Amino acid sequence: EQVCTYMCPYARFQAVMFDKDTLIVSYDAVRGEGSRGRAKPGGQLRTQEQRARAGVGDCIDCGYCVQVCPTGIDIRNGLQIQCISCALCIDACDTIMDSLGWKRGLVGYSSERRAESGRQARLLRPKVVGYAGILVLAVGLLVWSISHQAAFDLTVAQVRQPIFVQLSDGRIQNSYEVKINNKTNKSLVVRFRADNLPAGAELDMGHFSEVELHPEQRLRLSAKVRLAPVEFDGLSHPFDLVAEPQNAPGLEPLSHPSVFFVPQR
Ligand code: SF4
Ligand code: SF4
Repeated sequence: EQVCTYMCPYARFQAVMFDKDTLIVSYDAVRGEGSRGRAKPGGQLRTQEQRARAGVGDCIDCGYCVQVCPTGIDIRNGLQIQCISCALCIDACDTIMDSLGWKRGLVGYSSERRAESGRQARLLRPKVVGYAGILVLAVGLLVWSISHQAAFDLTVAQVRQPIFVQLSDGRIQNSYEVKINNKTNKSLVVRFRADNLPAGAELDMGHFSEVELHPEQRLRLSAKVRLAPVEFDGLSHPFDLVAEPQNAPGLEPLSHPSVFFVPQR
């Protein structure tokens, strides 16, 4: 109930998207209230004829429509922002009407225009055409993005604490966290290499310079780049980590840019 009321964006959209012709779950107040309001059945208010004579409407005030409402509102008070159009109150009221042998539809789908003037809602109107166009466009974009998604993806993040270490032999080492994700339903063998590294630098991924990814598997790997710098220039040298598929002809290698940092002396 709290989620429907405070978190669900549907309720907020309602106010923006609705117009006089929008079909909404609503209570037929004219029928339900009559001229003297609703009343529980009993005494001289058992049949529809008796109630009509007394000016009482068809709502027997059983409260069933409120009990079944997941957001706890009373649809007889009009459309409220909490309404999620689940239609449980329609079913509940129809059940009551059936049990009394009265016509269904005291709570049902209706529009503001129908409530005001009794005229049918217009189905083909600019708003409907506009929203339908947006929906078609969104579905088209979704289909396009699914059909064009890369078979696998690669990200490389430089470990920044520490951004470098100096090894006992004087070389500078930078570390990276590599994430690779196989989005296909086939095994994928990938070999890593580094392009455009500074001269003399080497990539070390241990036993994982070539890995096999099972269908839809995601791996997190560690990579190290080492260099004995000719010049300690305090600069970040760009390079690309490349993942090259080995068992999928036609699948292009993926590369991700990163940098190798050389400290200053
Ligand atoms: S449609 Fe659902 S949420 Fe809206 S008033 Fe009826 S039961 Fe409650
Ligand atoms: S279920 Fe129908 S009859 Fe009962 S209170 Fe709701 S609107 Fe009235």
